[in-house]
Amino acid sequence: MGYRPGEDMDSEYVVVGSGAGGGTVAARLAEAGRRVVVLEAGGDPRALQGGDPVEPAGERLPDDYDVPVFHAIASENDAMKWDFFVRHYGDDAQQRRDTKYREEWDGKRVDGVLYPRAGTLGGCTAHNAMILVYPHNADWDGIAELTGDSSWRAENMRGYFERLEDCRHRPPYRWLGMMGLNPTRHGWGGWLQSEKAIPVSALGDEDLVKVILDAAHDAFEKVAHPVKRVKWFLLGQADPNDWRLVKGNAEGIRYPPLATRGHQRTGTRERLLEVARRYPDRLRIELDALATRVVFEDGRAVGVEYRKGTRLYRAHARPSADDGEPRVVRASREVILAGGAFNTPQLLMLSGIGPRETLDRHGIPVRVDLPGVGRNLQDRYEVGVVNRMSFPAWEVLEGAKFAKGDPQYRQWAEGRKGVYTTNGAVLAVIKRSAEERALPDLFCFALLGKFEGYFPTYSALFPRHLNYLTWAILKAHTNNRAGEVTLRSADPRDTPLVNFRYFDEGSDTGGEDLDSVVDGIRFVRTMTADLKEKKLLVEELPGDDVRTDDELRRFVRDNAWGHHASCTCPIGPRDRGGVTTGDFRVHGTEGLRVVDASVFPRIPGFFIVSSIYMVGEKAADVILKDAASR
Ligand SMILES: Cc1cc2nc3c(=O)[nH]c(=O)nc-3n(C[C@H](O)[C@H](O)[C@H](O)COP(=O)(O)OP(=O)(O)OC[C@H]3O[C@@H](n4cnc5c(N)ncnc54)[C@H](O)[C@@H]3O)c2cc1C
Repeated sequence: MGYRPGEDMDSEYVVVGSGAGGGTVAARLAEAGRRVVVLEAGGDPRALQGGDPVEPAGERLPDDYDVPVFHAIASENDAMKWDFFVRHYGDDAQQRRDTKYREEWDGKRVDGVLYPRAGTLGGCTAHNAMILVYPHNADWDGIAELTGDSSWRAENMRGYFERLEDCRHRPPYRWLGMMGLNPTRHGWGGWLQSEKAIPVSALGDEDLVKVILDAAHDAFEKVAHPVKRVKWFLLGQADPNDWRLVKGNAEGIRYPPLATRGHQRTGTRERLLEVARRYPDRLRIELDALATRVVFEDGRAVGVEYRKGTRLYRAHARPSADDGEPRVVRASREVILAGGAFNTPQLLMLSGIGPRETLDRHGIPVRVDLPGVGRNLQDRYEVGVVNRMSFPAWEVLEGAKFAKGDPQYRQWAEGRKGVYTTNGAVLAVIKRSAEERALPDLFCFALLGKFEGYFPTYSALFPRHLNYLTWAILKAHTNNRAGEVTLRSADPRDTPLVNFRYFDEGSDTGGEDLDSVVDGIRFVRTMTADLKEKKLLVEELPGDDVRTDDELRRFVRDNAWGHHASCTCPIGPRDRGGVTTGDFRVHGTEGLRVVDASVFPRIPGFFIVSSIYMVGEKAADVILKDAASR
């Protein structure tokens, strides 16, 4: 892949992981003239074959990868998925109250709740829901304050978004942009295309969709100032990434922009392959390569040990029985870790960088006693208000099997039209959970499907139930920093132990997070009240009998989940739990950086991937500048 056998195997930079962080930084470095090797534990999802809960014995790739509406199914495709089972709570009794908890699964003791990850080229950009929503400006300004480095300021960071995005959903502004006017501050020529799936009005069920929209408008009218509301609508046209709305921390109704190219998934897989095609002598993508340890010489990271082989990691659906072939790849300049929020701290610890007591416990010689590695784990809190409609199927989903050949698939395949161009979400509302919140902190979106969170085979609910409306609620900027990733064993093929320490077990002692999610439930209920009254829907979850604050809090504690795990190698001073510097270096080391979801001191925005892509671009600038000065 971009590399001709027989050429020098070694490079200036070795990047571990090809996901949102690793893929972005590696491609940019190679494009800028550097020789880069990417080690990726998985294979290419469009070249692999695997079944999923919809067709366990089927060959569902590349469709699971390509078709936007299949994203949940993609996250359970055997060939790409890495299943982590995590604890939300240390307390057994509380943990077992969650119906998604499994003590055993597939003949193995798993003792946790499924947390899907993708072990494949493109990382989680290969199965995510493609939602590209810009973070809050305060997220970047916070890092600037923490590091004293003004290049992290929001004003400057927006430049990275402009550099990576190729926005296709604001046509008049694209045209203006060509004339040098860019009030939206979208990017128009970057590598990541962003699109709007289809207008809500094109979804069919016009009366019903209108009722949902009207209900959202009505509910929103009660919470936002009328002048601001009209201003935001006129400027932003419901685009959450419009710079003017971002700057104003605007609330309101939004559409979810998707990272798709011609209504087909796109991400770092495409970016890497495209750069490798252009510069085969500079970018080598080594698939089926599980990094096991960073190699140091005289205190400097000079390479990575890895094992070559398929399905080596035990998060895989059917992990291989053999250990793979041990290999080493050298980096004359730097090693960059981008394995994601679970795997990067694991790899650091396996390399002797982490909390001393953990390393001692597993017999790993301590290179750097860095207590912050794996700590500060953060995530959103999410819940779904799940409603069953009174009819057998949404008009747009009639006959849908979420499989090749059904009418909706044909529409997508033949003309990139119809409901399969969407990720199932029809509209979203951004709001504050309480007036006193400094920033909007709730993202509520309406999904035409039954979604109760992640458990094995959860994705089969989508084709099985064609008459559901789920309002998913995401709480941004959670206050809990008490989660942790630690080693299960010193075996690099094992998954780490992950405990998020939700709510009462965590550090949000005031209970603000819990109350915010409860507010989210009350809010989305105002949008379904009318439909409920007209007997057009029945609320299945939490259900009409769950009404008081205490009942709702209990529901949230027992059912919440997350899927934006982050912050396990945070930027910050070492004596305050920091693992990395503002220029991505690992404290106490030379030649070693981290560039992925782990580096955030605090979980950014509503959706995380836009921030990770931006961090990847920023890291490339920092690394290139550094290289030019040596
Ligand atoms: C189901 C789901 C849906 C999501 N939807 C959205 C969404 O719509 N919008 C959004 O903003 N975010 C979404 N996310 C989150 C987002 O996609 C991830 O947070 C993001 O991709 C993480 O980027 P990363 O670079 O940190 O890691 P990843 O993208 O996970 O990449 C890490 C890569 O490193 C590889 N790797 C790990 N360890 C090793 C090793 N030891 N050796 C070699 N390779 C290794 C992995 O195989 C993987 O390819 C979703 C997540 C999930 C699980």
